[in-house]
Amino acid sequence: MSLVLVMTVAIFAACAKNPGQSTGSDKPAASTEKPDAGKKIKIGLSMDTLKEERWQRDRDLFIAKAEELGAEVIVQSANGDDNLQVSQAENLITQGVDILVVVPHNGEIAASIVDAAHKEGIKVIAYDRLIKNSDVDLYVSFDNVKVGELQAEYAVKQVPKGNYMLIGGAPTDNNAKLFREGQMNILQPLIDKGDIKIVGDQWAKDWQPEEALKHTENALTANNNKIDVVVASNDGTAGGAIQALAEQKLDGKVLVTGQDAELAAVQRIVEGKQAMTVYKPIKAIASKAAELAVAMAKGEKIETNNKVNNGKIDVPSVLLEPIQVDKNNMLDTVIKDGFHKLEDVYKNVPKDQWPQQK
Ligand code: BGC
Repeated sequence: MSLVLVMTVAIFAACAKNPGQSTGSDKPAASTEKPDAGKKIKIGLSMDTLKEERWQRDRDLFIAKAEELGAEVIVQSANGDDNLQVSQAENLITQGVDILVVVPHNGEIAASIVDAAHKEGIKVIAYDRLIKNSDVDLYVSFDNVKVGELQAEYAVKQVPKGNYMLIGGAPTDNNAKLFREGQMNILQPLIDKGDIKIVGDQWAKDWQPEEALKHTENALTANNNKIDVVVASNDGTAGGAIQALAEQKLDGKVLVTGQDAELAAVQRIVEGKQAMTVYKPIKAIASKAAELAVAMAKGEKIETNNKVNNGKIDVPSVLLEPIQVDKNNMLDTVIKDGFHKLEDVYKNVPKDQWPQQK
């Protein structure tokens, strides 16, 4: 290595310890090179939101794993604002991150983040949500079609015939479409047979529970309260739907699905107000993504088990398995994994009805 390069790397490593010192003009000279072995890897984590409970867990577990591997993480959260997410990502690039990990608010708009990063020789990992129509380098997520299938499978097993209402997530989130695709894989044959009738079909802007509340109220009115199942795509929207059902004293009578194993949702499940959720072990995705981010930043070769087309390329992907959870396997899944504590999940249930932890 030439003396000039050694010095550049040394100066850059010194700056890296204090990201506040990087300015727009301070172009990271080393970013197009493979990071030097002695230099601390800097990861930029650009998040859509921290609103749902899961994202804080994703952030914390990602940082913990990255730090364990000797890397440093700079996190930015855009609060559902596309322009803000793009400018935050540009800022991370300017700060000289070695790799960018993005949870996009809008899977299409985030393609511009990939272009900007690539111009500086920085690779991009799409975390949980795919970045569409771009040359994104890696996608780490769960099998999201399977998530939708698990939700619908559960519902049709319990209620094989009846009036179903569908509440999709944010139309800007590619995952929301995949969940719906999975749900329809299961529901469509039963709709065609005439066993299931879709009496409401809505999407909740930005995954807002208030949107789900409003859509469910409207569907209940339009159908004289004759709804048997609400296929809600996540726990936040399930909460909104259950609030609308409670206004009509129908909570616990109408089967409601969910996703994320949020604390409020698993509490509703053991209280009988929500039927199921889909548990996605966040530790697994956060650790995997952090490991791969560090390896990619070091220029190492990455092993993936999948490819997912994003409209432009087949993106090398790692897809983890989601798990169906209801009150019967709560103990063996969410609680056993330490995702939630027994006493928190069963907080509102009389203690003599708590299951025995082995
Ligand atoms: C995630 C879900 C989450 C939703 C809302 C989706 O992309 O996969 O776990 O509930 O976004 O944040």
